[in-house]
Amino acid sequence: MAAEVVVSLALRRVDKVFYYNVPPHLEGKVKVGSRVMVPFGRRQVEGYVVGFGPAPAGTGLKDIADILDEGPLLTPHQLNLARWMAAYYLCPLAAAIRTIAWPLLHGSPPGRTYVLLPQGDREAPDPRRAPKSAAAWRAALEHPGLSRTELARKAGVSPSVVDALVARGLLRRVEQAPRWWEEEEGPLVGSAGPPVLNEEQERAVREIVTALERKERAVFLLHGVTGSGKTEVYLQAIAAALQRGRQAMMLVPEIALTPQMVEIFKNRFGAQVALLHSRLTQRERYGEYQRLRSGKANVVLGARSAVFAPLENPGLIVIDEEHEPSYKQEESPRYHARTVALRLAGYSGAVVVLGSATPSLESYAQAGGRGPYRLLRLTRRVGGRPLPEVHVVDLRQEMREGNPGVLSRRLQEAIAERLARREQVILFLNRKGHSTLVVCRECGLVLKCPQCDITLTYHLSQRLRCHYCSFNVRAPSLCPGCGSRYLAFLGTGTQKIELELQRLFPQAGILRLDSDSAGRGRAYREIIDGFRRGRADILVGTQMVAKGLDIPGVTLVGVVNADVSLYLPDFRASERTFQLLTQVAGRSGRGEREGEVIIQTYTPHHYAITCARDHDYLSFYRQEMAVRRTLGYPPFSYLCRLLVTGVGEDSVAEGAGILAREIRAQEAGVDVLGPAPAPLGRLKGRYRWHLVLKAGEQAALREVVGAALKSCEKMALFRKVRVSVDMAPQSMM
Ligand code: ADP
Ligand code: ZN
Ligand code: ZN
Repeated sequence: MAAEVVVSLALRRVDKVFYYNVPPHLEGKVKVGSRVMVPFGRRQVEGYVVGFGPAPAGTGLKDIADILDEGPLLTPHQLNLARWMAAYYLCPLAAAIRTIAWPLLHGSPPGRTYVLLPQGDREAPDPRRAPKSAAAWRAALEHPGLSRTELARKAGVSPSVVDALVARGLLRRVEQAPRWWEEEEGPLVGSAGPPVLNEEQERAVREIVTALERKERAVFLLHGVTGSGKTEVYLQAIAAALQRGRQAMMLVPEIALTPQMVEIFKNRFGAQVALLHSRLTQRERYGEYQRLRSGKANVVLGARSAVFAPLENPGLIVIDEEHEPSYKQEESPRYHARTVALRLAGYSGAVVVLGSATPSLESYAQAGGRGPYRLLRLTRRVGGRPLPEVHVVDLRQEMREGNPGVLSRRLQEAIAERLARREQVILFLNRKGHSTLVVCRECGLVLKCPQCDITLTYHLSQRLRCHYCSFNVRAPSLCPGCGSRYLAFLGTGTQKIELELQRLFPQAGILRLDSDSAGRGRAYREIIDGFRRGRADILVGTQMVAKGLDIPGVTLVGVVNADVSLYLPDFRASERTFQLLTQVAGRSGRGEREGEVIIQTYTPHHYAITCARDHDYLSFYRQEMAVRRTLGYPPFSYLCRLLVTGVGEDSVAEGAGILAREIRAQEAGVDVLGPAPAPLGRLKGRYRWHLVLKAGEQAALREVVGAALKSCEKMALFRKVRVSVDMAPQSMM
């Protein structure tokens, strides 16, 4: 039997199995899932063993050169998942394997580290003559066992000060396993007990646990209004899975993976929790993988890619906010974590719980009546709190009545009221920066990014920035086209709102939360914590404020402009807007006092807005389903989007044209829309054309696209342009 190996080269041409001989010294070590080095052409490349089988006759086999890890890289479930991913998303098998095994490929096994112990018998440094040394020494006495960098940070000195103390014999170095590793060795059960469930929660948990017990392959859709206590349902279902010796996985959108959520999990499940998110170092991620593989951890909490965590025996997979677009990876392989999770559950017999206040149309359509999903509903907020009252303000009328400003009179009054009552306000606007459009009033020139087909945004740092690439320049004072002094700064971003609030409410404390002010790490936490503790009255922000925040002091949420997302050229624009409005509205009135929401819009009668106002998911669902049915969009069809990009506009257009012809010629019952320039026609210097394929079944799409790619592969033109396949696309931009 020869080893079947796929090689790790990013080329479709080599996306097939190659056969190799297992030399005697590697016999018994090379297993399915092993990572190996193999001779390939004139060089050696990395490859993955995907099976063993008889080699085709008549070929002389080369030997596997070496094996790279001790055990197999992938578990059997993971290898199955990789095969499925490659077929489903039309990506090379090696790419799927790399995506799944990513932390193991890039991490390094945690080595030894040194901690420092103070030598108490030595004389302390003099704080007057050597204040830095003294500070480090004091910190070492108070916190023995920190590493070099930790100690330096704690004392506020540079690591070289610590080194000097070691050299003088005041600190002793002791070898130890890394601390983060140790810290996880806490109690296996957390300290926090669960609250008593209300009737609806109780019923939901009971149904999930029954399915777990009967080992049913059930998928539940937990449709619970904001603040209805979905998290508690997940926690108790996870606890039940653990009690039955199964493992559990919970996925949350990256943005919802807040310290708050992590704390809840640690309190409930202690050291059994493995945390996987994008802020981990590769080494930490590697460590978490090892804890899972060794069985020390058996609950995974993580964002999108955590769906690939190595669980031997998953019993429960929870996907919170299942409608969130961030579950889709927007680079190859363009997988959707929800789709992957459902497949994984199929392999492992796990129960799946999809939760949301605003389920995706795709999921809800599966849960209606005879659909395969089972619907669980939480219709009320915890503790009998009412849902907030939502008012819609018509900005056209506001304008007619003489207020052209960005904040309507009603919103201003409502804010003033909250300030007087010492309650808190969240204002949401999904655009950062100050002005989103800079245009010359004399010649009409619009300032755009030289690399992207995107208007530049003016920031208070006096710079113009492209929000799609890293391009930024000092804002000019004269029009670069005609030299005029009359540049207009139009369009409103979060910075402009912040200034406007400062002007209107000079006495109010205002915080801004967007990717400029917060990034993802500490600053984010500080802003949120500060606001929660009441250190500010108003929080202005982008979608970072829309999701997951549970701040009891907030009684008013204002949506500055609901139309921003409503008129994007994407068939999901209404759905996204409804979801976003419902989610932001859900931040209001979560504490003792009742909440209010004010939505500003130029189109007050759009059903995405009126249904959000009425908290009426079902009505939105029905109206949007009717639209989708008429247009033949998902969930009434399956889509695949082919995006052709390149630096030459003509070859991109030509490539898209050829692809379209190839697919139409197959006459396989697939509708081809386009080719056409993508709504974002140029990004980072590359032109973009796309075609959208529509079919009644997904298999048909895979076949025609696979065949078309194969015949295009050989054409010279396709060396100049890149084709990316987006199966079941989430973005049409
Ligand atoms: P959702 O995710 O549905 O918006 P959460 O899970 O954030 O809602 O729950 C809202 C709040 O209610 C949280 O502070 C949570 O701790 C609390 N909570 C949930 N279930 C209960 C319960 N049965 N009894 C008391 N408080 C609860
Ligand atoms: Zn001009
Ligand atoms: Zn750009």
